Amino acid sequence: MKVAVLGAGVVGSTTAYMLAKEGHEVTIVDRRDKPGMETSFANGGLMTPSDASPWNSPGIVKQLGKMLFDRNSTLKINPSAIPSIVGWGVRFLANSTYERHKANMISNIRIARLSLGVLRRIRETETLNYDQTTCGTMRVFPRGGRMSAFLEMCREMEEWGVQFEVLNQDKILQKEPCLRAVIDRYVGAVIFPDDESGDAHKFTNEMARLATEFGAQLLMKTDVLKIVESSASRISHVSTSQGDVYADAYVLSLGSYSPILARPLSIFLPIIPVKGYSVTVALNGWNGGPTRPVMDDGYHAMMVPMGDQLRMGGRAEFTRYDTRVDAKEGQRILNDILKILPALSSHIDPRTALNWSGLRPMTPGGPPLVGPTSYSNLFLNTGHGPLGWTMACGSAKLIADFITHGRVLSNCVDPKDYVL
Ligand SMILES: Cc1cc2nc3c(=O)[nH]c(=O)nc-3n(C[C@H](O)[C@H](O)[C@H](O)COP(=O)(O)OP(=O)(O)OC[C@H]3O[C@@H](n4cnc5c(N)ncnc54)[C@H](O)[C@@H]3O)c2cc1C
Repeated sequence: MKVAVLGAGVVGSTTAYMLAKEGHEVTIVDRRDKPGMETSFANGGLMTPSDASPWNSPGIVKQLGKMLFDRNSTLKINPSAIPSIVGWGVRFLANSTYERHKANMISNIRIARLSLGVLRRIRETETLNYDQTTCGTMRVFPRGGRMSAFLEMCREMEEWGVQFEVLNQDKILQKEPCLRAVIDRYVGAVIFPDDESGDAHKFTNEMARLATEFGAQLLMKTDVLKIVESSASRISHVSTSQGDVYADAYVLSLGSYSPILARPLSIFLPIIPVKGYSVTVALNGWNGGPTRPVMDDGYHAMMVPMGDQLRMGGRAEFTRYDTRVDAKEGQRILNDILKILPALSSHIDPRTALNWSGLRPMTPGGPPLVGPTSYSNLFLNTGHGPLGWTMACGSAKLIADFITHGRVLSNCVDPKDYVL
């Protein structure tokens, strides 16, 4: 079958690989000159089923009020974005009941764990280089923080297969000696041994490369202008800046831009862009940093080793489609990390740091939209929010299986999040 995958981010490229491997004739269409140049470019790099808890945990309403008025908050809402997020926001809050949140968390865990399994299987047969770490992630908790509440959540996640281990200060230092200077700040840590990390941009390009080895065509520097229907139930072709692209099936993986292309077909996808920032510094051969990703739960800061670089990231900003990089945000992220890893300052040159921002394609519930639409040959694999890299291999496998074998998507996807 001829399949056009719209979007060459980590989700689209992995989908293209899965479909091409199944023997389909795949064309990937993207407006950039290379795969993975938008949100999949410099994200946090975490491949973390342990992070499956959606952002709208019960009690979020109270926290939101506090966060919005705190100048140092990790969450910001630009007033100009408010009209575009009201409807989405109501659904976001409606998903913050204990029951809804738990159901969404379980869906996320299922896709994320499937993803990890699929990724490991790919690594068995393909040689991939994406600066991966495979020795887990560590979350450290400051005194007076929320470690006990977090452990409760870990125990819930454990029922669904997320393993964890609690560490005291000595054990933290055995695993991550780089935290010695600030160890008294911490009451303990949780390590998730199955988590991994890696450079999502490199991985995306590896997936696109492998897809082409299975015969896929890359149509880059090509804007998708319109998805054209032939009838109320079928897509005829996609109109692009390089002419029309015809296929038997189409997969929509345009990240935060998916709703814009779907809307003219009366498919209203509940996805909005939520901006985040990252900073990447060269370590110049210094190996005194963390050996695995470390998250500080107090500063909401994370540092992820990536080859000879350290990536740090965070922040959530509702600011529509504004992708401008704000150097001040980058500096704030770096400052938080320097509080945890003061030795870093003498080994890096902040002037050469890569400051980046990207738009997380967020659904109000948390789980992505993976599955069919009211058009028999248009499929969704989009809306992965803060977990697109974590879930890419899993959701690509689900949609490829669905298109190829009609295999049911189980309950990975929440039908309530579809407004079709
Ligand atoms: C600061 C930050 C940190 C993050 N950290 C993590 C993390 O640690 N772990 C994790 O799992 N996730 C993380 N994420 C989320 C993750 O990056 C995203 O979920 C993921 O990149 C989304 O992938 P995608 O392929 O859906 O979208 P994208 O990567 O945005 O890909 C969409 C593609 O569509 C193309 N496109 C869009 N419109 C058109 C058009 N009209 N015509 C042609 N092409 C078009 C774009 O060029 C792009 O290549 C983070 C996100 C941010 C912002």
